[in-house]
This record gives sequence, C-alpha cells and structure tokens, in this order.
Amino acid sequence: IAVAVAGAGAMGSRVGLYLTQAGQDVVLLDDWQMHVDTVTEHGLKVNTLGETETYPVSIRNFKDYSVPVDLVIVLTKAMAAEEKIKQLMDQGVITEDTNVMSMMNGLGHGDLLRKYIADDKILLAVTMWPAGFNGPGEVTLEGTGNIEFGRIDGTVDNFVKELNDIFNEAKLNGKISDDIVTSIWNKALVNCCFNTYCAVTDKKIGEFGAYVHSDDMLIPLMKEIITVGEQKGAKLDFDATLNKFHAMYSPDVVGLHYPSMHHDIHNGRKTEVDFLTGRVAEYGREFGIPTPYCDILTHLVHQIEK
Ligand code: NAD
Repeated sequence: IAVAVAGAGAMGSRVGLYLTQAGQDVVLLDDWQMHVDTVTEHGLKVNTLGETETYPVSIRNFKDYSVPVDLVIVLTKAMAAEEKIKQLMDQGVITEDTNVMSMMNGLGHGDLLRKYIADDKILLAVTMWPAGFNGPGEVTLEGTGNIEFGRIDGTVDNFVKELNDIFNEAKLNGKISDDIVTSIWNKALVNCCFNTYCAVTDKKIGEFGAYVHSDDMLIPLMKEIITVGEQKGAKLDFDATLNKFHAMYSPDVVGLHYPSMHHDIHNGRKTEVDFLTGRVAEYGREFGIPTPYCDILTHLVHQIEK
C-alpha cells in the first residue's frame, strides 16, 4: 500500500524504515529541510547498541508532496498535527479514500481527526516502540515494542486486518485492539505522570521513584486522570497502574531513562503537555471534575519551556 508517514522524527523514522524494508511504498514527510536533504543524500543513519548502519528511505518536504496515498500515519508532535493534516488534504495527499492513523502520544487525537476525516477512515494507534532523534539524518533505534491500533468506532474491517498483517510483516508487532480508547488512556496515564514530574524535577524515572514520598505525588494525580478517563469511556485500574509504575523504577525497565518531555525541555523545544495533563484538565472542566494536579503540572511545564 502507499503510505505517507507525516513527521520523520524519531518514531516516524522507525515506522517508515520498517515499512519500507517490508516492501511497502513509503514516503516520509518532514518540514526540516536539512533533515530531508541529509536523508536524501546519505540515507537514514541508524544507531543500534553502538553500531551504525545507513538505509535508503524516500523522504520529502511536506510542501513538495502531492501524491494521494492509501494511509497517512501521523507522527508529528501533537501540536503540529492539525496543521499538517490540513496541509495534506489541501495538497491532495489525503483524499476521501485515505485512511488516517494517529500514532502520537497524548489525548484528543480522535476528536481532531473527526473534524476532517470520516469515522470509517480514522485509525487510532498506541505504540510502545522507543526511538531517539539525534539530529538531521540520524536516529537511535533500540529496544522492542508493538503497535496496538483500531478504528475509532471499534470496527474491524478488511483494511484493519490487512494493515495488521503489514505491521507484522514489517516486524512492528501489530495488534488489533479490542479497546483502543482504554489503551490510549493507559499510555497517557504513564506520560501524564512521568513526563511531567521528571521534566519538572529534572530526574530520571528511577530517581523520581526513589523519593520516599513519590507515591504521595503520584496517587492524587493518577486519581484525577482515572476519574476523567472513565468519563471518556476508558476502563482504568488504579491498583494495576500503581504496580506498573513501581515496576518501571527498576534499572532493568525504564528507571535509568528520562522521559521524552525532559529531552524536549533540555533541547529548548515545546512539549506535548497540552495533550497530556493539559487535556485531562480541559476534559475535567467539561465534566465538572476538579483537576488541580493536572492544572499545576501543566503550568509548571509551560513555565520551564524555553
Ligand atoms: P521527534 O521530536 O523526534 O520528531 C518530531 C518532529 O520534530 C519531526 O518532524 C522532526 O523533524 C522535528 N524535529 C526534531 N528535532 C528538531 C529540531 N531540532 N529542529 C527542527 N525540527 C525538529 O518526535 P518523536 O519522538 O518522533 O515523536 C512523534 C510522536 O510520537 C509524538 O507524539 C511522541 O509522543 C510519539 N511517540 C514517541 C516515542 C519515542 O520514543 N520517540 C514513543 C512513542 C510515541
């Protein structure tokens, strides 16, 4: 199938490269001309456990691409997604036959897609693959992961089944979700808690967990997110989530890592906080649910964004 990966950063490069290697007709799209030029000239440089390999992939600047595709996978940062979807519609890359999948972290991407795309063409995905962006033309791809996805309304049609086969052939470990809303909120719970706290405290996940009162910081925040998420149809389990969080502190899991929001702050880039705690707070206001932890964390992250 013809696939355009919108956003050729760390994760867009991972997904685009794997699909290319599995023989799909893939183009990566990005705004950063220096990155586009470097990959076009030298290929995509991939670091894995100290080894570097370079692979050919097709990449274009968004503004230079106008070929209709079967599938657009949105992997920009969340705050850039709406503008890029509109641009791809204007340029004829997204037509009424194009499936559009959000694979971004955060909340509210289904609502955004519904503004522009019919329900039977919308796909929502959650990925556990990690990826790092080192600069123009270069990524670090280590570890393992999967892509859980489904239609916004839960329908499992032929395209969903075909795409699952394609993800598996590409070794991206596809899984058709039986409850994509819950999966999205479960990942958002992790990101809302650790991205924000580790960015604000300048700590790795394990360092945050080592603070004797870290649960006193986490529990009220988790409760806000779970209460709001349940109103949005997610089935979230407080005890299981807290146990999962405690397990994450181990150096063998992600204890030695800074979450991506920490990197964004460090690199002077805008964060996705408005799509995490900021979005929970917005939903909370709609439902009349107070979200003081989400409110203050969103403000604190904006305060430290440069
Ligand atoms: P990224 O920062 O690597 O890339 C996003 C965009 O920013 C790309 O278009 C890239 O070209 C651009 N960019 C990066 N650095 C830049 C710079 N210095 N100057 C100008 N442009 C720059 O983002 P990502 O990690 O690929 O994330 C994309 C989406 O995937 C996000 O929603 C993220 O939360 C989600 N996600 C990421 C990971 C991960 O491990 N990276 C895992 C799961 C989900």
